[in-house]
Amino acid sequence: MAYDENNIFAKILKGEIPCNKIYEDEYVLSFHDINPQKKIHALVIPKGKYIDLDDFSENASNNEIVGLIKGIHIVAKKLGMSVNTGKGYRALANINEYGGQEVPHLHFHLFGGERVGKMVE
Ligand code: 5GP
Repeated sequence: MAYDENNIFAKILKGEIPCNKIYEDEYVLSFHDINPQKKIHALVIPKGKYIDLDDFSENASNNEIVGLIKGIHIVAKKLGMSVNTGKGYRALANINEYGGQEVPHLHFHLFGGERVGKMVE
């Protein structure tokens, strides 16, 4: 499957659609989810065009991979939910059909600000 240049997160990255930005650097953009499922629900996306975690693992550079993992921590810290600024959180990536992925640009959900409950329904 080819990367869809017109997916909603691609449009956010291009600045065509606004977002409530939390953090941005060379490798990642982070913003609040439009339909939060917990008190804090942030999204962290790589700037590169990757459909999902499998695509990212196979095709991203080592710098991009490190950048995304570091970006998740930076955002969690900034939002007061990392282990050094808060009480923890959940980082989750949905992958393809069975994973329930809706937007075909890799993203990690960061849920926190309260207990997030059971891992899966
Ligand atoms: P997925 O099911 O693909 O893992 O998650 C997609 C997420 O993107 C959902 O939680 C949904 O609420 C969020 N989302 C969809 N469209 C937009 C948008 O235009 N802006 C923001 N900030 N989040 C969006």
